[in-house]
Amino acid sequence: MSIDKLTSEMQYMLTHSPVPIAVYQFIDGKIVTIVISKGFIEEFGYENEEDALNVMNHDMYIDAHPDDVARVADLALKFATEGGTYSAVYRNKTKFQSDYHIIHATGNHYYTANGDRYAIVWYLDETKDLNEEFSLAEKLLSENLKSNVEFESKLRKIKYDDLTGVPGNVYFMQKAKEFYDKLDESGQKKVSLYIDMSNLKLFNHKYGFYEGNKLIQALAKLIRKYFGYDNCGRFGADHFGVATTYTGLDTKLKSFLDEASHMNDGKTLPVRIGIYVFDDNKDELEIAFDKAKIAADSIKGTFYSSYKYFDENMNTENEMKEYVLSSFSEALEKKWINIYVQPIVSASSGMTCDEEALARWIDPNLGMIGPDVFIPVLEDAGLLFKLDLYIVDRIIYYLKLKMEAGLELVPISVNLSEKDFINCDMLCEIKKRMDENGLDLSLLTLEITERSIGKNPELLKGIVSKSHELGFKVWLDDFGSEYSSLNILNDFDFDLIKLDMKFLRKMVLSKKSKVIIANILELALKLGVDTVAEGVEAKEQAEFLRDNACVKFQGYLYSKPQDIKKLIDWYKNGELNGN
Ligand code: C2E
Ligand code: CA
Ligand code: CA
Repeated sequence: MSIDKLTSEMQYMLTHSPVPIAVYQFIDGKIVTIVISKGFIEEFGYENEEDALNVMNHDMYIDAHPDDVARVADLALKFATEGGTYSAVYRNKTKFQSDYHIIHATGNHYYTANGDRYAIVWYLDETKDLNEEFSLAEKLLSENLKSNVEFESKLRKIKYDDLTGVPGNVYFMQKAKEFYDKLDESGQKKVSLYIDMSNLKLFNHKYGFYEGNKLIQALAKLIRKYFGYDNCGRFGADHFGVATTYTGLDTKLKSFLDEASHMNDGKTLPVRIGIYVFDDNKDELEIAFDKAKIAADSIKGTFYSSYKYFDENMNTENEMKEYVLSSFSEALEKKWINIYVQPIVSASSGMTCDEEALARWIDPNLGMIGPDVFIPVLEDAGLLFKLDLYIVDRIIYYLKLKMEAGLELVPISVNLSEKDFINCDMLCEIKKRMDENGLDLSLLTLEITERSIGKNPELLKGIVSKSHELGFKVWLDDFGSEYSSLNILNDFDFDLIKLDMKFLRKMVLSKKSKVIIANILELALKLGVDTVAEGVEAKEQAEFLRDNACVKFQGYLYSKPQDIKKLIDWYKNGELNGN
């Protein structure tokens, strides 16, 4: 769309008008200045038409008071996107003026015969030279106007978020309430959304805060486009709330997520949306947004954009999360957390050749809490290293109990995650503990999952070689659970690979799985890497694995993970093949 769609007479008239006028069009989401009058050029102190158009299209608010810019830009965008009339009062100072003048801009939309829409805006300088000729009343009026503008801008700063222009937390809640009240009147279903991006921290780290801010602005713009000007708010960082209704929501969200994958020129992140549909409209506002957040958090860690509806199970999960975080210190202190140990058996001798320590939280209020519940919570909160160091302490305690019982020691595994190495100098801390207790480092095997490797291969490469230098053995856990398994074998130097349990599960069902297992075992054999099959529950599985040169077995067929005192008794009584 271009200027020549306006009739030439109209264009001539506007360009030559002594009144300050500008004509705008909204093109590709941007306000573009296409005509300015002679009066505009004079009023705002431009050299000529070209100079004025250039400034207006690159830095429209260059002369406006910095405190007024965001408010006026919002009003202009609202006028451009939602229609209606435009009325904005702001402070402006051209290069020829010594002080700010109050400008009142008013505008309307006009349509040409072929349906193109233009906005024509008139500018009026409301500031009088306050010399003797003016009455006291006029002076007072002018001063009043000035302080009102200041007040409005301050108010805007309180209500709206500076970075994105959407309502801030408090104002949004007010607006959401008004919106929901209207939905109540019309009997429509109320919905709250919590919108968030994955890994903004990493993005900031990689590209810098300026780029991170640009991405947040792009997301805010998209949210505004889909859900309206006052129906969204920024809670902080990349967290946004939206008040909306249920009708057509899925279609809208699909299209929103599709567009989000191209926003900010494609330099973007996966977007997560949590949805809460009000229950009989009796929920409180804040709780509704909390529930939407819980739903969004439940899809954390996914690498693609998606949305999820809240269900009550998530609430239980969330309460559990909060319980874990608030009781973790006490659980360590009072030893509610302990290790269970599972023997690993040699395929050739049938004797226990290794063991694995697995964390258990036996809670006085809730009973047994599995590691699948508390480990991800601690990992997210950056607290997993505390647990894993504590587990190392418990392993040392166990090794000493075994020594006291006269049992021979076998290496025992501790499970470590990539986060452990980010949050502390894990290898150094573990070595210190083993040294202090006079235990050889070869007694403690480090298990690192394939998932952890995938998250930070460079860091883990260094960790694996440093572990070897120090004298630890390092095992690759859950081999085959992710998609880059073969690369890992090529790039890393593990002492052993532990086949993910899912292979054995599938083995019962499929020939294909048997072929895959046999080939992995052969590959490991050729590479000179030992193997453990995890989750061995049936004799046929063990036989098949033995026939295919699997070196060690772990699973319920031999023993479940056990309480350490009980396990030691079993070993002592020869009930298990302990050494
Ligand atoms: P993992 O390291 O793969 O541990 C093996 C899991 O399989 C254990 O579950 C174990 O109880 C279970 N398992 C062993 N044999 C069988 C079997 O024959 N059949 C079946 N169905 N399951 C079997 P658990 O103890 O619930 O641990 C789950 C995961 O939690 C572990 O998976 C590990 O990734 C993590 N984890 C456990 N303890 C710790 C810890 O101290 N630190 C860290 N960072 N992670 C831990
Ligand atoms: Ca493990
Ligand atoms: Ca495993």
